[in-house]
Amino acid sequence: MIPFDFEYYKPLTVQKAVELFKYLQTHGKNPLFFSGGTEIITFARRNSIQPRAIIDLKSIPESNVTELQKDNLVIGSCVSLSNLSASNLFPLLSATAQGVADQTARNKITLGGNICGEIYYREAVLPLLLADSQMVIAGPQGVKDINIHDVFLQRMRLEKSEFLLQTITNRVYLSLPFVHFKKRQIGNVGYPLVTVAALKKENQIRTAFSGVCSFPFRSIEVEQILNNSKLSLMEKIDQVILNLPAPVINNTEGSADYRTFVLKNTLFEIVKAFEGR
Ligand SMILES: Cc1cc2nc3c(=O)[nH]c(=O)nc-3n(C[C@H](O)[C@H](O)[C@H](O)COP(=O)(O)OP(=O)(O)OC[C@H]3O[C@@H](n4cnc5c(N)ncnc54)[C@H](O)[C@@H]3O)c2cc1C
Repeated sequence: MIPFDFEYYKPLTVQKAVELFKYLQTHGKNPLFFSGGTEIITFARRNSIQPRAIIDLKSIPESNVTELQKDNLVIGSCVSLSNLSASNLFPLLSATAQGVADQTARNKITLGGNICGEIYYREAVLPLLLADSQMVIAGPQGVKDINIHDVFLQRMRLEKSEFLLQTITNRVYLSLPFVHFKKRQIGNVGYPLVTVAALKKENQIRTAFSGVCSFPFRSIEVEQILNNSKLSLMEKIDQVILNLPAPVINNTEGSADYRTFVLKNTLFEIVKAFEGR
């Protein structure tokens, strides 16, 4: 049960959503944008958030597209992870989405909610980091395209009044060789010990990680090490561990030492998987 009352709005246009946010904010309603709702409902039931108004983005047409437009794949932020996997237009993104939660939850969880959520795994962002995607952000200043590396720094850096409308990915990235590994403590559902999405472009391996540190990341240092032909595979793996951007997570799902062990094995599998490709 959600222990408080809130107003629910479902605007049909970007403009209306932006206006509604401003109106509700000035009237003290502490509004939240809502897409799949899985995280908002969980947090509201626990009383750890108390929005007095919700703005559901799912009826905005631009937020529901999954289509190739000229050289780009455009994906709306309200597309569910199930639909993303089913469309399979970006196979690495499909594989990554398929690794999140279970089928029933994936029918609700959206690309935008996963990337913008508070829970720090945000696995769906990994392929977009590798593909240098553009993020389409809507807000009081209008709609703008921003490179993912300028707006996703550990998490989405949005103003409260802004929301993610779409992602745009150059079609070059849709057919590159890729691998995706998700290692959990147990079973096929659950948050990762280590998730790595990787692709190979112009003979260079790109890697992005979730579950390793307390934020998803792609690291230039890590990629330089993995692509350094002067290092042996074991030297590469050891150096990657020394050059992670933050301490390895240590929690009930896995100690830092265990995660590091799993990460080393996964890096080994990644480099081997790309050999000769
Ligand atoms: C059983 C289960 C297992 C899970 N396992 C994993 C896992 O292994 N890995 C993983 O990465 N995720 C996992 N998740 C999902 C994750 O933790 C988030 O809860 C989920 O991705 C939120 O998506 P949503 O569409 O439901 O977002 P919502 O609940 O609608 O929103 C989440 C947050 O994002 C904001 N938001 C939503 N859409 C937008 C937007 N377009 N622009 C700006 N802000 C927005 C909201 O205001 C809210 O703060 C799991 C979830 C469940 C239920």
